[in-house]
Amino acid sequence: MSKNVLIIGGGIIGLSSAYYLQKEGHRVTVVDQSNLDSGASYVNAGYLSPSHLIPLSAPGVMKKGLKWMFNPASPLYIKPRLDPDFLRWSWAFNKSCNQKHVEKAAPVIRDISVLSQDLMTDIKRGDGFTFHYDKKGLFMLCQTEKMLEEEVKIAEYAKELGLVAKEVNQDEIKLMEPNAKINAIGAAYFECDHHSTPHEFMTELKRHLTNAGVKIFSNEKVEDIKIKNGKIDSVKTSKQTFNVDEVVMSAGSWSGILAKKLGIKLLLQAGKGYRINTERPTGITIPAILAEAKAAVTPMNGFTRFAGTMEIAGINHNINKVRVDAIAEAATQYYPDVKLTVEEKNEAACGLRPVTPDGLPYIGRSEKCNNLTIAAGHAMMGWSMSTATGKLVSEIISEQKTSLQLEPFSPDRKF
Ligand SMILES: Cc1cc2nc3c(=O)[nH]c(=O)nc-3n(C[C@H](O)[C@H](O)[C@H](O)COP(=O)(O)OP(=O)(O)OC[C@H]3O[C@@H](n4cnc5c(N)ncnc54)[C@H](O)[C@@H]3O)c2cc1C
Repeated sequence: MSKNVLIIGGGIIGLSSAYYLQKEGHRVTVVDQSNLDSGASYVNAGYLSPSHLIPLSAPGVMKKGLKWMFNPASPLYIKPRLDPDFLRWSWAFNKSCNQKHVEKAAPVIRDISVLSQDLMTDIKRGDGFTFHYDKKGLFMLCQTEKMLEEEVKIAEYAKELGLVAKEVNQDEIKLMEPNAKINAIGAAYFECDHHSTPHEFMTELKRHLTNAGVKIFSNEKVEDIKIKNGKIDSVKTSKQTFNVDEVVMSAGSWSGILAKKLGIKLLLQAGKGYRINTERPTGITIPAILAEAKAAVTPMNGFTRFAGTMEIAGINHNINKVRVDAIAEAATQYYPDVKLTVEEKNEAACGLRPVTPDGLPYIGRSEKCNNLTIAAGHAMMGWSMSTATGKLVSEIISEQKTSLQLEPFSPDRKF
């Protein structure tokens, strides 16, 4: 049965949901408070990386966060605040930082990321899309023995879970990446990973959806949601009111604020990250994570992107120059010939990752509302999990058997 579906938020998760819902024959509208050209879905590193099996909430992360609190250039920053939502989130995050949780989450992360890669491949093949999408794997470049040992251990674990990964030495790195000087003692190489140029896919997706009849409204903020008998009846934006059969909440880091209007407690914090682009040649052809510096490097279509930092400090888009400089310095430490200019650093942009306490997104219905599907909280993996999330959302609303078990993603789960 064709339904009238309103999607709140037109980032990668909202647009992917629109893609599969429209394909199923639903009447779809997307509404977004922004101009639909910035934020996390545009500044990300473009990885579709099942290799990121270990959720942020892993053993030792809270301790690291506390240690780094006083380092202005650290890649992870958790700003202490007396806000009850932040305190609830911190408590739940800390509780999830254990090995048992990692072992439970890793196969779930693998399955949704691998499904997403397959679906992205289908989209690129089938619908006249031309966006850049490459399958060159990913290096975890290491400069210290200790880090290399840790990363090789993760590669072994990834292999146990069926992913293709191996250790590579300096000579092998040189052979694989002959035109970029690299300062690393070795790496874990995840052949299973793919990468893309985010703004290309976003632009083509918007064009495809508009041509297919999906209505997309930008610069329109959802202000109120009316519930009648446990169902959303209408959604009021800054410009109009929509009557709906179904609502998808894919408002990224803002989803917690919207969920509150419905009496749903969605633990979610914004994790800010930055990107710097250079259009000058770098010789880099294989994506890499600079393991000690926790920065990401991606050869995109026509430029190289350097991205990083996770600043959990509320919803704001302030650019912290010290952290931008730290990403640029890390780039030079690992790629001595890469020196990002003041102009390139001045053009750095940021985006907010929606971070749940346990590193898994919220995908599914809440018991509190019959016609709402939540799809938010993908943190560092929103690009990797995007198409599979969209497909799951469509399957939920179309009342079909879902491609993956939804229980680990339940918005009502306890931490
Ligand atoms: C620097 C950086 C690097 C990253 N690298 C990667 C990577 O390589 N691979 C990966 O998988 N992930 C990566 N990520 C994470 C990924 O980008 C995010 O998980 C993903 O973009 C989140 O998508 P989203 O659609 O949920 O949220 P968003 O892109 O934030 O979209 C949410 C939308 O909702 C809209 N909205 C909010 N409130 C309202 C309202 N009241 N009314 C109307 N509209 C509203 C917002 O305007 C926004 O457009 C990275 C993120 C950053 C910041």
